[in-house]
Amino acid sequence: MRVLIVEDEARLAEDLRRTLVAQNYAVTISSDGEDAWFRGDTEEFDLVILDLGLPRMDGFSVLKRWRAEGRGMPVLILTARDSWREKVDGIDAGADDYLTKPFRMEELIARARALLRRSGGQSSPILANGVIEIDTRLRTVTCLGTPVSVTPLEYRLLTYLMHHPGKVFSPAEISAHIYEEDIDRDSNAVEVVIARLRRKLGAPVIENRRGQGYFIAPEAMR
Ligand code: CA
Repeated sequence: MRVLIVEDEARLAEDLRRTLVAQNYAVTISSDGEDAWFRGDTEEFDLVILDLGLPRMDGFSVLKRWRAEGRGMPVLILTARDSWREKVDGIDAGADDYLTKPFRMEELIARARALLRRSGGQSSPILANGVIEIDTRLRTVTCLGTPVSVTPLEYRLLTYLMHHPGKVFSPAEISAHIYEEDIDRDSNAVEVVIARLRRKLGAPVIENRRGQGYFIAPEAMR
């Protein structure tokens, strides 16, 4: 899962980055509205955390432009304290949720998790298909009841497929959602990560459809 943080206060942006990286998300930071708009328009993000007061283009305009262009990723806005107007305007502009500054990182994480879950059509923090189970609060993976230790990159790949059960993704599509920056991307590397995960899981959880890509079945056969 890939998250874009749009925040011009460097310290807060860094705190957010550190918190989200510790939760195994791939994180990209943008510190002005124009750069944020461009990235959100041309790259794939599973969630955006958007401050409203930004240099070059304000957060409302960024969000409205994305929505007008059909960019539907979940967006959580950061609003100023006691400003009900900002919340209303933000939601009207297409925000999915908001947090009022200052906020606790724990609350941000819980809201981020809920937004990601809902955008994948899931209601539980536990992603399971009968063979594999991922607890997104604890970031633990078990396969047929046995705990499996995975790297942050492997975790991102696995949760990305599990958030969209049954949907087939090409290596390029997967790659766009698990690396922090464009330059890190290499769809061959996705094949390597999948091979490693398959070995670790020991069960045929990650399936492929020839010439199309990879998927995890909503209900797997034991
Ligand atoms: Ca700001």
